Amino acid sequence: MKYSVDEHGYYGQFGGAYIPEMLHPNVEELKNAYLEIMNEPGFKAEFEDLLRDYVGRPTPLYFAKRLSEKYNTKIYLKREDLNHTGAHKINNTLGQILLAKRLGKKRIIAETGAGQHGVATATVCALMGMDCIVYMGAIDMERQKPNVERMRIMGAEVRPATSGSKTLKDATNEAIRDWINNPVDTHYIIGSVVGPHPYPDMVARFQAIISEEIKWQLKGLTGRENPDHVIACVGGGSNAAGAFYHFLDNEDVNLIAVEAAGLGVNTDKSAATTYLGTPGVLHASRSLLMQTEDGQVVEPYSISAGLDYPGIGPMHAHLFESGRGSFFSATDDEAYEAGIRVSRLEGIIPALETAHAFAVLEQIEFKPDDIVVINLSGRGDKDLQTYIDRGDY
Ligand SMILES: *Cc1c(COP(=O)(O)O)cnc(C)c1O
Repeated sequence: MKYSVDEHGYYGQFGGAYIPEMLHPNVEELKNAYLEIMNEPGFKAEFEDLLRDYVGRPTPLYFAKRLSEKYNTKIYLKREDLNHTGAHKINNTLGQILLAKRLGKKRIIAETGAGQHGVATATVCALMGMDCIVYMGAIDMERQKPNVERMRIMGAEVRPATSGSKTLKDATNEAIRDWINNPVDTHYIIGSVVGPHPYPDMVARFQAIISEEIKWQLKGLTGRENPDHVIACVGGGSNAAGAFYHFLDNEDVNLIAVEAAGLGVNTDKSAATTYLGTPGVLHASRSLLMQTEDGQVVEPYSISAGLDYPGIGPMHAHLFESGRGSFFSATDDEAYEAGIRVSRLEGIIPALETAHAFAVLEQIEFKPDDIVVINLSGRGDKDLQTYIDRGDY
């Protein structure tokens, strides 16, 4: 398990838990309990039942015939867009709320940027009858009104973060402050493979259901369990971590991660962390991040809110540094065009995050017999206005 987390919470030089003293008890409790709870037969059974009956798993692995013809290779789509709430995020929020219940927690907090993780958290809180407080930047609340209302309809309280730039990083600060003040009864659901250990490993394990299913589904469809390539977009890296997880040690499987280049990696409007980033500490773990020479985090930019993040999970920083993963990026324009292409060829409008993964089909030439699995992380409904605003379809 060369690419999994080690017993100290590191992936190579990345990871760890760089937390303020006052958070130590919360993180320690989680670290000491998460693996044991996740391995309990009762926990596994409840998680599996809800993944099946509530989320709608297994999601199909679908042979995309027209897309395959266009690119002269064999392309399979892992349909995470068909999950309840429209993306992979629910796999993680469901896992974490079941874990929180077993830790005796009564109250859930989360941070959200565009609102997708907030909605996935509000959803499972309603399902479990738990109090839910979602911190969201005041500016993001203005920009993402439908998601704010979705959360409220399901009974969550959305609290505006009014400090700093009034966006994701400020919402994260508020959530951490809340957690420090409520260490006994509150669980903090982080939405990607980021944050202090054990979050990156815990979230990767909850998302690993994606590659677990790909293995048996591909075996049924093609007779072999391992594809030649797995492609996923990377914001923090949770859908990619899930799609890669059971292939990490199969070194004949090429792991392709696609970051958002925004207006281009050579402009100051980008979110391509492995290209532009350097080692540093962000959200309590050591990873690669976009920062100035004196360590100030640089504002990232992407057309897709889910990839608009200045860092990358420590597991991916290690996959990049070790060469195990191949990292690419796609610009706003390339992603948008790929999104339209997939819509026309397959009748599936992908989320703009996911469209970045499809954009690499224009950059890499695969062999006719290659089996390429693309993780279709989410559906494009939430991005309809952005598609409409561009309009040249
Ligand atoms: C949130 C989101 C992402 C980016 O998050 P990761 O943690 O990198 O997976 C990608 N695709 C969709 C559809 C999302 O909602």
